[in-house]
Amino acid sequence: MLSKPLLIDGTWRAGSGSRTAAVKNPATGQIIAELSICERADLDDALAAAQKGFEIWRKMTALERCRIMLRAAGLVRERAETIAQHMVREQGKPLAEARGEANAAPEHIEWHAEEGRRAYGRVIPARIPGARQIVIKEPVGPVAAFSPWNFPINQLVRKISAALAAGCSIIAKPPEETPSACIELAKAFQEAGVPNGVINIVFGVPAEVSDYLIASPIIRKITFTGSVPVGKSLAAQAASHMKRSTMELGGHAPYIVAADADVASAIKLGVMLKYRNAGQVCASPTRFYIEDSVYDSFRDGFISGAKALKVGDGLAAATQMGPLANSRRLDAMESFVEDAVAAGAKLECGGRRIGNAGFFFEPTVLSDVPETARIMNDEPFGPVAALVRVGSVDEAIERSNRLPFGLAAFAFTRSLATADRFAIELEAGMVSINHFGIAAAETPFGGIKESGYGSEGGAESLDAYLTVKFVSHIGA
Ligand code: NAD
Repeated sequence: MLSKPLLIDGTWRAGSGSRTAAVKNPATGQIIAELSICERADLDDALAAAQKGFEIWRKMTALERCRIMLRAAGLVRERAETIAQHMVREQGKPLAEARGEANAAPEHIEWHAEEGRRAYGRVIPARIPGARQIVIKEPVGPVAAFSPWNFPINQLVRKISAALAAGCSIIAKPPEETPSACIELAKAFQEAGVPNGVINIVFGVPAEVSDYLIASPIIRKITFTGSVPVGKSLAAQAASHMKRSTMELGGHAPYIVAADADVASAIKLGVMLKYRNAGQVCASPTRFYIEDSVYDSFRDGFISGAKALKVGDGLAAATQMGPLANSRRLDAMESFVEDAVAAGAKLECGGRRIGNAGFFFEPTVLSDVPETARIMNDEPFGPVAALVRVGSVDEAIERSNRLPFGLAAFAFTRSLATADRFAIELEAGMVSINHFGIAAAETPFGGIKESGYGSEGGAESLDAYLTVKFVSHIGA
C-alpha cells in the first residue's frame, strides 16, 4: 500500500477520501500496491501550498536555489539503484535501461540548476536621453505538471528541474501506474532543502486533477507529456484561461536508410532504438523508409536482430526487452498488427502476445507496409517495426513529412549533401543523423506540428517558465 503518496506543503499524506489506484507489475499482471489518490480538498491544499512556496522560492537567490538543486541531484544519484528497481517493477523496462534512466535524472537537475544562474535579462541602448531600459526575466508562477508512465523519473525530473531553476513552484501529477520512482525524486528534493510548498506531488484521476488545476487562478503554467489527443485538450483548456503551456506529445519517427548508408550500423541502432522500453518511447523509430537497393539486406538483418532479443522480466539479467507497461498497449499492438496484415503488409516475425501472465509481446517486424495501414498513421507506441521500400531519398523525405507528427527523425547516409538535406527538409523537432544523439540534458527536447511545442532540456528549457518584463526608467 502506498498510503501516503501525496506531498503537500512539505508533508506526505494520504488522499482525504478513500479512493485508491492499483499499481501493477507488468511482468506478472499482479497488483503490487494500492495508491491513495487525491480529492478536490487535497488539490485546494496543494494550490495554497504552491502559492506560498512560490513566494518563498522566487525570493531566494539563483545561487541558493542552485545549491539546493545540486544537493538533490546528489541524493538522486546515491539512490539511483532503488529508483531503477522501482521502475522495473512498476513499468517493466529492463534493469539496465532503468539504471540508465535513473542515472540521467541527476544530470537534468544539475543542468537546470546551473542554467537558473544564467537566466539573464538585457540592457537596451535607450533612444530617450538619460533613460535606462532593461529586460528582466521573472518566474511565471506556480506550475501544474502532468507526466507519463513510460519514463517515470525522466519525464518528471525535466519538469520539476526547469520549474525550480526558473524560480517557480510546482504541483506535479506523476503517473498513477508508476508512482514510486517519482515519490523518491520528490523526497530527494525535499531532503535537499527545498522549502515546503515549492514541490507538491498529487496522484488522482488524471482528468479531474488537470481540469481543476488548469482552471485555478493560482496556476500560471501547464506542462504535459503524453498523447496528442490529451495534449490538445489540455492546451485548449490552458488557452481558455490564457495560460502558457509546454506540450511534449506523441511522435511517429521516420527512420530513413539511404542507399549509400552504413547498413550494418543502421540495423544495429534501429533494433536497439525500436525495442528500447518495448517501443514505448515518444521518439521511438516507427516508420522505416529504406531505399530499394539496400532494402532486402536491411530487412533481413533487422528481422534477425528482432528475433534474437531476449524478452522477459526486467529484473532478470538476460532480459533485453521487458513487458509492455499495461494491458491497453497489448490490445493496441494486436490491433495494429491485424490491421496492417489485412492492408497487405507481411508479418515477418512476432505479432503475438507471449504467455498469459504479464503484458509481454513479441518483438515484431512488418515489411512492405502500405501507407494506408493504421500503423503508418497512428503512433504505435510499442515493439512493432514497419518497414517500407522507397525508390529515392526524395520519396523517403516526402513520406516522412506526410503525417501531422513532428517529434524525432532518424536518417542514415554517407553523403554530406544528403545528410544536409535530411537536416533541413525533415519536419521534426529533433533530427539525428547516422547515430542516436537526442535527449541529453544540454540538448533541446521537443516537437513541432501536432507533436507539441516548447523544449525540455537545452538552453531553451527555462524560457517556458520565465516571463519577460521590460522596465524603462529615468532618474527623478
Ligand atoms: P492516455 O492518452 O490515456 O494517457 C497518456 C498520459 O496522459 C498518461 O500518463 C495519463 O495519465 C495522462 N492523461 C490522460 N488523460 C489526462 C488528462 N485529462 N489530464 C492529465 N493527464 C492525462 O494513453 P495511455 O494509454 O496511458 O498511453 C498511450 C498513449 O499515450 C500512446 O499512444 C502515446 O501516444 C501516449 N504517450 C506518450 C508519451 C510521451 O512520451 N509523449 C508517454 C506516454 C504515453
